[in-house]
Amino acid sequence: MSYGEKLIEVQEAINLAAAEVKRNTRDISLVAVSKTQPIEKIEKLISLGHRIFGENRVQEAKTKWKPLKSKYDGLELHLIGALQTNKVKEAVALFDVIETVDRPKLAAALSKEMSEQAVEIPCYIQVNTGEERQKAGIYPEETADFVDYCKNELSLNILGLMCIPPANETPALHFALLAGIAEETNLENLSMGMSSDYEVAIKLGATHIRLGTALFGARDI
Ligand SMILES: *Cc1c(COP(=O)(O)O)cnc(C)c1O
Repeated sequence: MSYGEKLIEVQEAINLAAAEVKRNTRDISLVAVSKTQPIEKIEKLISLGHRIFGENRVQEAKTKWKPLKSKYDGLELHLIGALQTNKVKEAVALFDVIETVDRPKLAAALSKEMSEQAVEIPCYIQVNTGEERQKAGIYPEETADFVDYCKNELSLNILGLMCIPPANETPALHFALLAGIAEETNLENLSMGMSSDYEVAIKLGATHIRLGTALFGARDI
């Protein structure tokens, strides 16, 4: 299947899932996860009109997207991987949205760097819905306080919440939990759902789904 066909297939699945719960597809953005994918594959999607992409590593993203951003207009690049504080400067300079704000120290560093660069990069709070020790993210019961801190003390523009459910659990429970926390904290956007579970995520309110495999095929690395 060509990328064009894959993109169309995914868009049809998005339409179907949205229709089932009477949601408007315009409220659902597809973030094409291009980590590990070469420039040629990314440019094929761009030539088909796609503009929203996600990368999980700052260094890799910089190498690939600095040239792409000077070549194409209207690109929106999301950081969807862990961000170390020593990479905050580069991340603020490159990304249009940061989805992985997961601890106070990072939030403070982002706020300071955005002031220095005189930019405002919209952010999401990553919630560790499965309360997995090894995984990044704010625990559900601490999220409201953290959102408050980010917005009111650091003046960050927090658009919504993001989660990556535990691999061995039913994702729907985690999506519903995230949606509940977003409602409590008055946040509009929900970045949830990957290639294997995006239809469920849409039914539970996802505004952003992050798809790699479904669009590009299996990753080599
Ligand atoms: C890799 C990745 C994705 C995409 O995963 P697929 O299963 O290939 O769709 C989505 N979100 C995050 C945070 C990722 O790291």
